[in-house]
Amino acid sequence: MSPDAIIAWASAHGVRCTTREAWPRGDFRTDPRIDFGRWLERTPGCVLHPTDVDQLAAVMRELAAQGVPFTTRAAAHSAGGQVLSDGGAVIDLRGLDRIVADDPAAQTITVESGAWWLAVTRHLAPARRRPPVLTDNLRSSIGGTLAVGGFGDATHRHGLQAQQVRAMTVVTVDGTRHIVRPGDALFDHALCGRGQLAVIADATLTTVRRSAILHGRMLHWRSLAAYIDGAIRAMDGGHYDVFRARMAWQPGLPVSAVAGDLDAPITPLARIRPDDASPLEQLDLAALAEDDPHARWDFASPALELALPLPDGLATWYRLVERVAEAGLQRFMPRGSSVMVVKSPVGLPLAPVPPGGLALFGALRLELPPAEAPRVVPILRELGRQAMREGARVYLMSIELEADGFLEQQFGAALPRLRALKDQHDPRRLLNPWLL
Ligand SMILES: Cc1cc2nc3c(=O)[nH]c(=O)nc-3n(C[C@H](O)[C@H](O)[C@H](O)COP(=O)(O)OP(=O)(O)OC[C@H]3O[C@@H](n4cnc5c(N)ncnc54)[C@H](O)[C@@H]3O)c2cc1C
Repeated sequence: MSPDAIIAWASAHGVRCTTREAWPRGDFRTDPRIDFGRWLERTPGCVLHPTDVDQLAAVMRELAAQGVPFTTRAAAHSAGGQVLSDGGAVIDLRGLDRIVADDPAAQTITVESGAWWLAVTRHLAPARRRPPVLTDNLRSSIGGTLAVGGFGDATHRHGLQAQQVRAMTVVTVDGTRHIVRPGDALFDHALCGRGQLAVIADATLTTVRRSAILHGRMLHWRSLAAYIDGAIRAMDGGHYDVFRARMAWQPGLPVSAVAGDLDAPITPLARIRPDDASPLEQLDLAALAEDDPHARWDFASPALELALPLPDGLATWYRLVERVAEAGLQRFMPRGSSVMVVKSPVGLPLAPVPPGGLALFGALRLELPPAEAPRVVPILRELGRQAMREGARVYLMSIELEADGFLEQQFGAALPRLRALKDQHDPRRLLNPWLL
């Protein structure tokens, strides 16, 4: 693509458009050639920066008219190049960052898709409210997380962040706006589908009445299997407002979790049966969220995050663990690996969770010197392919697996409908070009 025609159109229509001279090098937050993974680089022809939904729709309509492929980029925490483009256009969604409406009585908030979750929690905290599920990373955007799923601190009780959406405004490639709700094909397939059908412009999210003060403790299990038992107890009993675990890369695969309730300590420890627990303490989650970890992120980070069907997926995970050890990859995960037991969501056909029961979600999120990436990424791909053959689904912010039959394994029975919707809304495959 020659960006000249797009630049001329943008200038005539008051839309900011940047090209390579304007891009600072090396910071994934502002350099459109890289993402959080920092092991891949692709140079787009130009980046368009709409500031509201009208500009977003106009930009999409124009790119479609000119036949230019484009990716949507928000906070760029992807690890597999999803937001990058080789020569096409990138739509930077950070300018859509407003809180559109707040309805405390209905416990909903409507937010533009480029806003960070941090903006939402800051807005809600004074009224002792929050979204029911928050991921570890509040500097990711609403749209970027809903486009992949959102596994978080209360997923064991409330499911994915994508399950907390009541309505959305989405824009299709022809620039048409659609207000969509659960049960609408565009709603159901815009969530967790890696932005294939439409761009989420805003989302109406559920909120709950909870403060940010956690009455919590560290729980410890000697093995992953024992943790899974405890996690299922927490899930079945509806225990804990916050429950996030990490598996250590040590013999026996011990697991530690932050577990607790907001406002008041209510979960009896005996119900969860950890092997060990620290004394109860209070943590201000809102204060902790103000710490920006960016300065500590100087590594490349190819990631492979998987949901494996339980109970058989545990054996798959053990095989992955063996291969990780053989390849010496555990040294690149000094803080361990996030693990979680999740329930297959209802009404979310593209959810990155195997259908029909419980799954073990595990994140191989490596922190390595960039020079190691070419050796390590093929090993991760092989692990991902093996897991998929055994029924796993991939979290779509991961590295691309380049596997035959990937879409069939990932989307299962939902694939024909997704393909038909892609044919209908993006027949020329311009939006977030991928395998579809
Ligand atoms: C340090 C760290 C911690 C993390 N912790 C967690 C965690 O606890 N739980 C969890 O679930 N995930 C976690 N993640 C993963 C993170 O949630 C995802 O990578 C998420 O996609 C990040 O959002 P983003 O705004 O950075 O998205 P981007 O990388 O900008 O985009 C992600 C995908 O969504 C598409 N997209 C972006 N905006 C839109 C839109 N408005 N409409 C349609 N498509 C869109 C993009 O094209 C891309 O395919 C973590 C990531 C990091 C780096």
